[in-house]
Amino acid sequence: MTQRTVLVTGGNRGIGFAIAAHFVSLGHRVAVTSRSGEGGPEGALTVQADVTDSASVDAAFTAVEQELGAVEVLIANAGITKDNLLLRMSEDDFQQVIDTNLTGVFRVLKRSSKGMLKARFGRVVFISSVVGLFGSPGQINYSSAKAGLVGMARSLTRELGSRGITANVIAPGFIETEMTAVLPEDTKKEYLSQIPAARYGSVDEIAKTAAWLASDDAGYIAGAVIPVDGGLGMGH
Ligand code: NDP
Repeated sequence: MTQRTVLVTGGNRGIGFAIAAHFVSLGHRVAVTSRSGEGGPEGALTVQADVTDSASVDAAFTAVEQELGAVEVLIANAGITKDNLLLRMSEDDFQQVIDTNLTGVFRVLKRSSKGMLKARFGRVVFISSVVGLFGSPGQINYSSAKAGLVGMARSLTRELGSRGITANVIAPGFIETEMTAVLPEDTKKEYLSQIPAARYGSVDEIAKTAAWLASDDAGYIAGAVIPVDGGLGMGH
């Protein structure tokens, strides 16, 4: 397997941390961004970046390029929720989620594309969500952003696919992390009752899918949405 320079946004905890740790275990050169500049897994370089700030994203990429070389694999994972029913959702809560989960991905994608174009190689993986295509009450902001990532990956594929760059989307279902730990027990039970696999997913199951999409074996997979959801979103 070819060793790559990998950058994972939001790699200080949850799914991003597990993805970064898995890439380290496979022998890749791994960098993670975190808002504090700390907290990535052992063996990874942690750099500070807030994906809502282009200058901070640019500085993080420059630091990674100096230490590890140009980013060949981008895992755009950083994300937030600000759930509320439509009538109670403020425009600010809508905008903040779009700015982090959609425009934030555009910022890191644009910055990483420079090196990928030069190398005529790149693997881009967006961490979307089952709710991007399935929908979810109380998550109009979040599901809009996550659905937007599908369009972004597919447009990128049409724009840069001929330059050795692939872009794919992982759509996780309900994964046990801090993001889902804060949900009310009733909501968690409701989700569980709808999951054909009858269990929540683990961060490792997302990490292994991300590593596979970045591997040599997945070179002809482009513009795909890969569900890792125990069947929750089947048909979407
Ligand atoms: P966590 O809340 O555990 O972690 C979120 C990560 O994103 C943290 O590292 C956080 O950094 C980072 N982050 C948030 N805002 C910013 C920002 N402005 N700039 C840089 N980094 C930021 O979430 P999960 O691990 O559960 O989720 C990871 C991704 O997976 C998200 O995109 C989420 O939407 C998606 N997902 C999660 C599912 C789940 O069930 N858990 C299901 C489907 C998708 P910090 O520590 O600084 O806050």
